[in-house]
Amino acid sequence: MIETDLAIVGAGLAGMTAARTAFDAGTQPLILEAGDRIGGRIEGLADADGRVVADLGPSWVWPAFQPGIQRWLDRLNLAVFDQYEQGDAVLDGFAPTPMRHQLPGQFGMARIVGGPSGLVDAMAAPLDAHCIRRGSPVESISQRHDGRLEIERQSGPAVIADQVLVAAPPRRVAERIALPATIDPGLPGALAGQSTWMAAQAKAIIRYAHPFWRDAGLSGRIASRLGPLFEAHDHTSADGDAALFGFVATPLSERRAGSLEQPIIDQLVRCLGPQAAHPEAVVVRDWALDDTICSEADRREPPAHPSVGPATLRAPHLGGRLWFCGAETADQSTGLLEGALLAGEAAARAAFEQRPQVA
Ligand SMILES: Cc1cc2nc3c(=O)[nH]c(=O)nc-3n(C[C@H](O)[C@H](O)[C@H](O)COP(=O)(O)OP(=O)(O)OC[C@H]3O[C@@H](n4cnc5c(N)ncnc54)[C@H](O)[C@@H]3O)c2cc1C
Repeated sequence: MIETDLAIVGAGLAGMTAARTAFDAGTQPLILEAGDRIGGRIEGLADADGRVVADLGPSWVWPAFQPGIQRWLDRLNLAVFDQYEQGDAVLDGFAPTPMRHQLPGQFGMARIVGGPSGLVDAMAAPLDAHCIRRGSPVESISQRHDGRLEIERQSGPAVIADQVLVAAPPRRVAERIALPATIDPGLPGALAGQSTWMAAQAKAIIRYAHPFWRDAGLSGRIASRLGPLFEAHDHTSADGDAALFGFVATPLSERRAGSLEQPIIDQLVRCLGPQAAHPEAVVVRDWALDDTICSEADRREPPAHPSVGPATLRAPHLGGRLWFCGAETADQSTGLLEGALLAGEAAARAAFEQRPQVA
């Protein structure tokens, strides 16, 4: 049996923000992570030297409109750079051949130098490495007679915690974590109702020696009706590692390992010219196959951006012992990095204020 003041379930951005907030307030939390790494949907593609050159998960932030992002970037001393939008986009499948077209970019859309994985790493930096238990999928949370919560994992001793913050995607919680029968009866439905943003999406990174599209006055942006990418963007890093990224349109039922790479290259040749034929690498990250994040409901249902869920997702449960704080529980920027930051921070602060007094 392991005893702790505060256990956090899930080491994505929300869980790590909660952990950092609790740590800064003087609590050393115990973080239980199902997977073998921290970051959750945030994952960097590293080169042979371990340097992150592209983002396999999220890339974009909007600091001008996202106060949580701006505040944490400042605090952790992280810089941003503009998403490259100069030049024409290419429309693919809107005419017999691809055509150049001006498409407005999104005002204020930026990327973090080093990628969002740099944000998670900076968040985790001061925490004791032993407080993060990887390979620890939580299966149930129950309440003991003394009020404390007991966490059962797939393997390993039970964890007894004064308080628990659950930062796993709500739908996955609904499907995989048994909660006490005394919980708010509205909670299970509220958890199951929050689709996990981008959880069933596959994202492709296509690395090149040089951002050749820029030389031709192209932004690297493609909007396509033909696929396999329905949209693509310049993804060259702040250090100049040339790349494009794209979101895969091919339905999950037709996605086979190794089947997308050549069709993606063919599409890029069609849209950007023959220089696209020889990428240094094509990496497809299929998030739908990630069982630690994507729920059965996310795989089954058409992708939908989650809207703000019911208040029970942000309320204290079991007398201030249990809280939920994934990005999909947030009441602002729900499902986004900003939502994960705000939810993790708010839950850790509220739990700290309501921590049980030990006699
Ligand atoms: C391809 C893609 C592109 C995206 N693009 C953007 C973007 O450009 N901008 C943006 O703002 N957002 C974007 N998003 C969304 C963004 O990634 C999420 O909002 C954010 O990362 C969610 O953080 P989180 O901590 O709430 O959840 P997650 O990152 O999903 O982390 C949850 C963690 O909980 C763990 N876990 C699950 N079940 C258990 C269990 N039973 N026990 C223990 N641990 C468990 C998981 O392993 C995971 O580590 C994108 C997402 C994807 C997949």
